[in-house]
Amino acid sequence: MPVPIRSVCVFCGARPGADPAHAAMARAVGAMLARRGWRLVFGAGDLGLMGETARAAHAAGGATFGVIPRHLMQAEAARGDLSTLVITETMHERKKVMFANSDAIVVLPGGAGTLDEFFEVLTWRQLGLHARPILLLDSAGYWAPLIGLVDHVIAAGFADPSLRGYFGVVAEMDALEARLAMALDAPAPGMASPSTAP
Ligand code: AMP
Repeated sequence: MPVPIRSVCVFCGARPGADPAHAAMARAVGAMLARRGWRLVFGAGDLGLMGETARAAHAAGGATFGVIPRHLMQAEAARGDLSTLVITETMHERKKVMFANSDAIVVLPGGAGTLDEFFEVLTWRQLGLHARPILLLDSAGYWAPLIGLVDHVIAAGFADPSLRGYFGVVAEMDALEARLAMALDAPAPGMASPSTAP
């Protein structure tokens, strides 16, 4: 039986951020996904880290699956060279389609939109609605305050300590690739991609 194509959803900023290390990391992620034969699922825009990731994946011959709400097509400069472009009517629908078509989630540095996306998939995980790996790529220590916030929420009694186990933190590309390979090339029972979003 043919092995289905594995897909990695990348949430990241529509801006490049102040530290050029983040853009370099985004390019490395795009190239790595292409090299491994994993499809990039992303917000379809050509801006910031999102654009960097997609350009690198495309340049390395990787498959790309972009999802963008109609009203953002201009503002986020939807790319015209994607393997698949899905146009949604709402932001909620965008996140749902991205999630439904992914086997793992990687979170690169980003702003409020990226945080929203991270917390949505984290809360779905907390509720037991999926078991997909969620990996924070802690480029140049960017996510340290977020990890501290999650620890604070747990210490203050507003979340079970298990919350911290629902996402992984990797600082380097090699570690990210290894974690993805573990999950995607030999998925544990129950880790295979469900075909629907919660
Ligand atoms: P940001 O991290 O703020 O640069 O946003 C990254 C991406 O998330 C951009 O493509 C935004 O359009 C998208 N985004 C922001 N808020 C939401 C939301 N509530 N639902 C879905 N996507 C969002």
